[in-house]
Amino acid sequence: MTTQSHDSGCVFCRIIRGEIPALKVLETEHAVAFLDINPINVGHVLLVPRVHHANLTELPEVDAARVGALLPALVRAVCSVVKAEAFNVVINNGTLAGQTVFHGHWHIIPRFAGDPVHWPWPHGQKQTQEALSQIQADLREALAPAAAND
Ligand code: 5GP
Ligand code: ZN
Repeated sequence: MTTQSHDSGCVFCRIIRGEIPALKVLETEHAVAFLDINPINVGHVLLVPRVHHANLTELPEVDAARVGALLPALVRAVCSVVKAEAFNVVINNGTLAGQTVFHGHWHIIPRFAGDPVHWPWPHGQKQTQEALSQIQADLREALAPAAAND
């Protein structure tokens, strides 16, 4: 488990520490947001916790809360500045999901009519009612501690 405060080989830690340049748009005690170097659309921003965790699976609740609390202000600013009516917020978690930088982060991707983004994902995988109910029961059991803590 990667829980140290920073990782000297991590590109996002190096950006946060000012060792390599990035176009930063927000810097708080707990997070930094900067423009993606290879944007999907104009205004594509990455919201990055200052503390190094490889991905969301390892991010402590307190950091998730602090960083996630910045999302409303960030998406309002992005949409206002690039005049987007819509946006996607995405986390790619793990290689299979397309993660390439293993310092967990949120993508804020403004959307425009006719842009090249292929969305939404293809839905429609059929599941039996029995399978759905079993997943629900398993998830409720796994999440019981979270429900009790809320
Ligand atoms: P992931 O694929 O891990 O969800 O997203 C990583 C993102 O970081 C990519 O969209 C990529 O363009 C961006 N990125 C990678 N290296 C750099 C960098 O050095 N500077 C900036 N600004 N963005 C980067
Ligand atoms: Zn890092």
